[in-house]
Amino acid sequence: MNIILLGPPGAGKGTQARHLVETRNMVQLSTGDMLREAKESGTEMGQRVADVMARGDLVTDEIVIELRVEDEVLVTRIAGRSTCGQCGEVYHDVTKPQPADGKCSNCGAADFRRRADDNEESLRNRLMEYYKKTSPLLGYYFAHELLEPIDGLAPIEEVQSEIAAILDR
Ligand code: ADP
Repeated sequence: MNIILLGPPGAGKGTQARHLVETRNMVQLSTGDMLREAKESGTEMGQRVADVMARGDLVTDEIVIELRVEDEVLVTRIAGRSTCGQCGEVYHDVTKPQPADGKCSNCGAADFRRRADDNEESLRNRLMEYYKKTSPLLGYYFAHELLEPIDGLAPIEEVQSEIAAILDR
């Protein structure tokens, strides 16, 4: 099964994707990372990937999960975000703080990082891009009856259960 986690920056896509990888043997493809890599590689394959993704072609067995989170909450989420540089575990200064011993709870590495663009000003620009370029897809998936809206404001475990309930239906 292919599922797409759709939502603005900070909605919790990475957090939920990691959980799906761990619990369901799924493979995670980050479209943002793929497009950046495809563009940078400059190979013919890279160009093809970029073309297919730019067209937004549907693949079979697809479910699109929309993580809904208010803009003002996104600011707080992004401003407090850090990740483990080794395994990618996602942390938040308030809701999921880094362990007191300074080591990642998932892999034990002491290598926490923050994205340079995880600040309020950059977020407002990234959010604008999301509304202009990505959110129009929501209408498309809704029309194809593939869209599942989820309350992204709920605690991480609740969002996990909601996604699980949809996938196990
Ligand atoms: P995205 O991949 O959509 O940009 P992330 O998964 O990186 O979002 O989450 C952004 C920040 O919000 C991280 O610091 C993460 O720990 C935190 N976060 C994710 N989901 C929740 C949630 N349901 N409630 C509170 N904080 C969350």
